[in-house]
Parts: sequence; C-alpha cells; structure tokens
Amino acid sequence: MHTRRLFLGGAAAALVSSSPAAALDFPIVDYHVHLNAMTLEQVAATSKERGIKYGVAEHAGTKENDYPIVLSNDADLQAWIAKLDPYPVYKGVQAEWIDWMPCFSKDAFARLDYVLSDAMTVRDAGGKRVKAFGRDYDPGDDPEAFMNWYVDWMVEICEREPLDIFAHPTWLPRKFNPDFDKLWTPGRMKKFIDALKRTGTACEIDCGMKLPKLAFLKMAKEEGVKFSFGSNSGGRTVTDIGYSVEMAQALGLTAKDMFVPAARGRKPIQIRKLRS
Ligand SMILES: [Zn+2]
Repeated sequence: MHTRRLFLGGAAAALVSSSPAAALDFPIVDYHVHLNAMTLEQVAATSKERGIKYGVAEHAGTKENDYPIVLSNDADLQAWIAKLDPYPVYKGVQAEWIDWMPCFSKDAFARLDYVLSDAMTVRDAGGKRVKAFGRDYDPGDDPEAFMNWYVDWMVEICEREPLDIFAHPTWLPRKFNPDFDKLWTPGRMKKFIDALKRTGTACEIDCGMKLPKLAFLKMAKEEGVKFSFGSNSGGRTVTDIGYSVEMAQALGLTAKDMFVPAARGRKPIQIRKLRS
C-alpha cells in the first residue's frame, strides 16, 4: 500500500490519500490526545503541520481513580479549561468510572467541549473498580461468561454516564483477545451498538488500538451511530490517524456521520436522563 499523504484543503475540508475519490468531506479531528509527555505548544504545532484538529483530554473523576492527574472538582476543571483556552484545540476530559458526575456542577462541566470514557476499567467480583488493562487483571477462565457480563457493562456505561464519546469500543482484556472475532458475535455487537444509539453516544474509531474492526463499524453505521476519531496519544508525539481515516473511507463516512461537540445547553450532561 502506498504511503498516505495528507493534503490540506480549504478551511472546511481535508483531503486524505492520493485518490480524490477517497476524499473525506469533513475536517479531521482527533479527540483523544493526552498531554502526559507533550506540551500544548507541541500539539498545536502538530495540528498545523498535519492539518488535523486535536481534542485534548485530562482524566476526571473521584480521587479514588489512580492517575497522575485527576480533575475532581469545578476548580480543577476551570484550571484545565483555562490552560487549554489559548490553544486551537477542543477541550475534553476522559471520565473515570461511573461515579464522576457529582464531582462537578453541570454548568462548569458544560464548558468543556466533550467527555469520553471507555470500558477498560471494570468491576471486580467485590464490586470495586479495577483496571482491566493492568498486568494483574484476570478476567477468569470462562470467556463466554465474561463476554456476557462485559457487554452488559458497556451498556451500563452508556446508560449511566452522560458521555459524548465511547472510547476504545470493543476492547478486550489481553487474555481473551486471541478469540476476539469469535467472542464479538453479531448479537453482542448489536446489543452494544443499540446502547450507543439509544443514548446518543458516539463511537470512537481508535487508530491507536485499531478498534473497532470493520464489521462492528459497519453495523454501527447502519444503525445511525455517530463516529469520532481518536488516537489515545499519550507519548511524546501524536499518533498517526491512519486507521481511522482508512475505516472512514471503507465505510463511506460523510460529515453527517461524524460527531461534533454539542452546543452548550445541549451537552449530554445537561440533557440526558440517566439510569440510576
Ligand atoms: Zn485515553
């Protein structure tokens, strides 16, 4: 395959790949960049160089979540927003677990452009939060039982959190990943996709982990789910957006299929009725 090159179009369009037929009719946004080892100056410079707009997200939630920085109240949130404000980036947070909403006032939270979260933190047998991507995590020996539980967990996340974007959709713990295609049956995909659709949560096309795969994305598109691109960049440079663009081209995504941050007053945290 030829190396993809990015050409900058007008203000509203970026053309990707050497084939004009494969052009996307919407501006490319990567909503999943973490600053960890990068400065905002670097992110802004990369944005200019690649013609991609970035959304920068900090972790948010209760102090029980184990991350170097966790925004946990309105003051933290306001400082984060003020930090991003001088830069041409979308302002986001990555919410942790399902108990973050009471940490913030709706007004303060709605000043963000978006919130994303994922299902990579799960409940252990005792009901406590555990990072399923951690080395010590053991999902058990029964992949079918795990999957039935795990898909319900994804549905619960959609229904209990007022999310804009579901990140890393369909991700599985390392132990069961070799059977990915067998475990993600059409029925399980449908159940998760129905929850995304019902709750108006966008499906991230994660170019870092190359997830979801095409079969899931096709079904999600047929159901009218919106999509966003995300690289989960957390290193010293922003990860290439290639997989997201390839999937968008394969699916024939157009502007109407793409997530855009809701206007203030219309944010999920302001309008969603949540399952308690
Ligand atoms: Zn992330």
